[in-house]
Amino acid sequence: MNQQELEKIKKKALEEHIPIIMDDTLAVMEKYLKKMKLERILEIGTAVGYSAMCFTNFLSPNGKIDTIEREEERVKEARENIRKVGVEDKINIYEGDAVEILPTLNEKYDAVFIDAAKGKYPLFLQESLRMIKPQGIIFADNILYKGYVLSDYNKHKQRTAVRNLREYIKEVSENPNLETEILEVGDGLAVSRIR
Ligand code: SAH
Ligand code: MG
Repeated sequence: MNQQELEKIKKKALEEHIPIIMDDTLAVMEKYLKKMKLERILEIGTAVGYSAMCFTNFLSPNGKIDTIEREEERVKEARENIRKVGVEDKINIYEGDAVEILPTLNEKYDAVFIDAAKGKYPLFLQESLRMIKPQGIIFADNILYKGYVLSDYNKHKQRTAVRNLREYIKEVSENPNLETEILEVGDGLAVSRIR
């Protein structure tokens, strides 16, 4: 992979305020994932492909990533970026709303990274649970949403997002098949391992 291109893409995304994965979040995920044999990763929320390209480093030799993005312009840019970095054989982008695409998928995944519309996290969780392999792992980024989720914040236009993120935490915490940690790294990361 072309590391220099990847750095350029990262810099541009940060300048354009595209919410790409934070370095420390990626480092924490690597700690969990490096012990695993990863054949398939599912990502919900591609943006310009930055995190998906980073995840290719964690894949086993024939591993692949499926990632979903609904913004046409971002899909276009992600495809260009992936080609420039030289990982087009490892990443497949589904263009469309994950709410519609997820129910059509029937793969089994070793890991899922949820990083899209916060109001849809409980739904993304249900679809992820349907497709995750035993011993697999589901990550949800931005789970603490600037600290709103753990405070008594319940006003403002982000109310639906906050309610759904709280619902996600409740579901992963109460599900007896999951072992969950809520980490304060980055904007909050939920890590749920399937028992
Ligand atoms: N994972 C990326 C960042 C994703 S930002 C990285 O770390 O590099 C979140 C992206 O999810 C945005 O590009 C947004 O357009 C997309 N998104 C939000 N809701 C979505 C949905 N319901 N279906 C598909 N994509 C969605
Ligand atoms: Mg994020």
